[in-house]
Amino acid sequence: MTEIKSTCCYCGVGCGVLIATDGAQITGVRGDPEHLANAGKLCSKGSTLHLSAQPVIQRQVRALYPEIRTQKNLPRVRSDWDSTLNLMAEKFAETIRSHGPDSVGFYISGQLLTEDYYVFNKLAKGLIGTNNIDSNSRLCMSSAVAGYKQTLGADAPPCSYEDIDHAEVIFIAGSNTAFAHPVLYRRIEEARKNNPQLKVIVADPRRTDTARDADLHLAILPGTDVALFNGMLHLCLWEELTDAAFIAAHTEGFAELRQTVRDYTPAMVAQTCGIKEADLLQAARWFGGSAATLSLYCQGLNQSSSGTAKNAALINLHLATHQIGKPGAGPFSLTGQPNAMGGREVGGMANLMSAHRDLANAADRAEVAQYWGVDEVPAMPGKTAVELFEAVRAGQIRLLWIVCTNPAQSMPEQNLIREALQKADMVIVQEAYTTTATVPYADVLLPATTWGEKSGTVTNSERRISRVNAALAAPAETKHDWQIAALFAQKLALLLNKTKPDFAYETPEQIWNEHRDSTRGRDLDITGLSYALLEEQGPQQWPYPQGASAGKARLYEDHIFATPNGRARFVNTTYQVTADKVDPRHPFALTTGRLRDQWHGMSRTGTVPQLFAHAAEPVINMHPQDMQRRFLKNGDLVHVSNRRGTQIFAVSASDDLRVGQTFIGMHWGEEFLSGRGHGQHVAYGVNALMSPATDPVSRQPELKHAAVKIVKAEMP
Ligand code: SF4
Repeated sequence: MTEIKSTCCYCGVGCGVLIATDGAQITGVRGDPEHLANAGKLCSKGSTLHLSAQPVIQRQVRALYPEIRTQKNLPRVRSDWDSTLNLMAEKFAETIRSHGPDSVGFYISGQLLTEDYYVFNKLAKGLIGTNNIDSNSRLCMSSAVAGYKQTLGADAPPCSYEDIDHAEVIFIAGSNTAFAHPVLYRRIEEARKNNPQLKVIVADPRRTDTARDADLHLAILPGTDVALFNGMLHLCLWEELTDAAFIAAHTEGFAELRQTVRDYTPAMVAQTCGIKEADLLQAARWFGGSAATLSLYCQGLNQSSSGTAKNAALINLHLATHQIGKPGAGPFSLTGQPNAMGGREVGGMANLMSAHRDLANAADRAEVAQYWGVDEVPAMPGKTAVELFEAVRAGQIRLLWIVCTNPAQSMPEQNLIREALQKADMVIVQEAYTTTATVPYADVLLPATTWGEKSGTVTNSERRISRVNAALAAPAETKHDWQIAALFAQKLALLLNKTKPDFAYETPEQIWNEHRDSTRGRDLDITGLSYALLEEQGPQQWPYPQGASAGKARLYEDHIFATPNGRARFVNTTYQVTADKVDPRHPFALTTGRLRDQWHGMSRTGTVPQLFAHAAEPVINMHPQDMQRRFLKNGDLVHVSNRRGTQIFAVSASDDLRVGQTFIGMHWGEEFLSGRGHGQHVAYGVNALMSPATDPVSRQPELKHAAVKIVKAEMP
């Protein structure tokens, strides 16, 4: 029996795990006491990782060999790697020659390792010459990226988990941290025990477990976050809690914002947000008046048609009150996925470039092109997630390669997504699991290795890079994600008569070294790190340049920001209403979120029976008064619908919501719904009802809010 150090593959906390193995199977998992993200703790999901890896389960759910469809509408048949990759390369070469490089697209995942991400990005941008590569991180973090870049000048969360221990006020906005980042929440609980003066404020439309514990819960109406943050700034100015000297010396743009927030009076904000003026005042006083205020925020801010403004408005508040660049203070965006950060670092999205370079900057593009040995990297940004599927549906993108993600469940407005998947000339799905809703659309299925079988690195929310290590051999005919991309690239390069860029990788370490060297001189410089150092000294935070002896726990302590002139920028943020508006036909505001024991579309957690003890099936939570008015009782089935479709759910009373608000957990898709009692009704999961409207800057869709009607379902 041996124990292998690795990292949990679920959320962005990035907990270290020790995987016990007898060589044939994973026999157990425990928290790594030496990992600084979790100090030995694991949540319900992480501590059952070994159960989902049992051979008996793996045999039922794994993609074990390549499959191809010789003709649309015929079933896929078993194939081998060489002929499958040849077929794909020929199809790509022919399509690129006939319709140009932008006629192909990639949709990848924040659950890939940094090395996987790097090779796919190089394949799309360096070899094929298209920026049509986007990631499910678009659904998760792109508003946080845009918010940081607009205000602080770089996509770099400035805080660390240790700031929780130093904070006097923790402001949690749009995050049910207790469920979505459980080990981090345990740290908040410990900090409160150690410091009884610590105040926790939660801004969330629902009384979540996180909100229930808070000293102050601001139960704002969905989507009103910018009004709240501007209103808090208005009161911080009124109460003289802003730092005029800091604003004058280290920022720009405050005068315009100051003028704007004059209109966000307590009365206006209380009415817009649906909260008491006294609570608003208390929040502003605690936020601005403390020695150290730390904000933690997640999808409630990001998954919005005004997500960038929400992020920027909160960062405005930190800048105006000088709650940044010191222990226990700062705007700290929590990443949802285990390696959304790594994907951002290698530039694996439609509008990003390697090592935080700027796609719009010709010198940056030339630098990357030279590094890869190619003539150029295309300047035109690629299609972002929603645009990518729209382009497939419109016939502009003909070949779509989906890697380690499940858009047939996770994207909004499923009817359009599924139409796109049917329309494409070829859909390639690279997956470890055959159970996702996207696999039936695959014309080519590429079996990938998964957690416990693959090695590389991930970066967590606090910029900490951790090693991921294989604990046992993968099924014989599966391949690592980076390996599949590199083998394909070599075949395609021959057909396109290209000798560069180079894809002759034999190990993930070679790829990581190439990525590392591309960061030299950048804000995320990691040239002082190596696989060996990460193994010997444990996970490290970036930046960690050559010659450094440690990474940086905190950014901007010198008050020099990552903008051209070193000054942070206030953004003149104004409140915009949600894309979907509640009206008499659709009188309910529907919000979505994570449940405690499930992860994304459940392809892994759904194999562990214990994880259904907390929530056995999908329900819609409604306020008891709304149920009473509609003669509904717990367990009744209801149709939840809007113009995008109808879903059927059992109803469950909850006074954690206001009258007129409802909530559905995001995890269940059609395979779970049809198999769990609602078999007469095919449903795609709650995202099918959500709006594809996107934020104008980040292009992140509004997965957190839709207007719906709810009608009792007729019993058969
Ligand atoms: Fe895994 Fe996140 Fe739980 Fe840690 S908190 S064990 S990273 S799911």
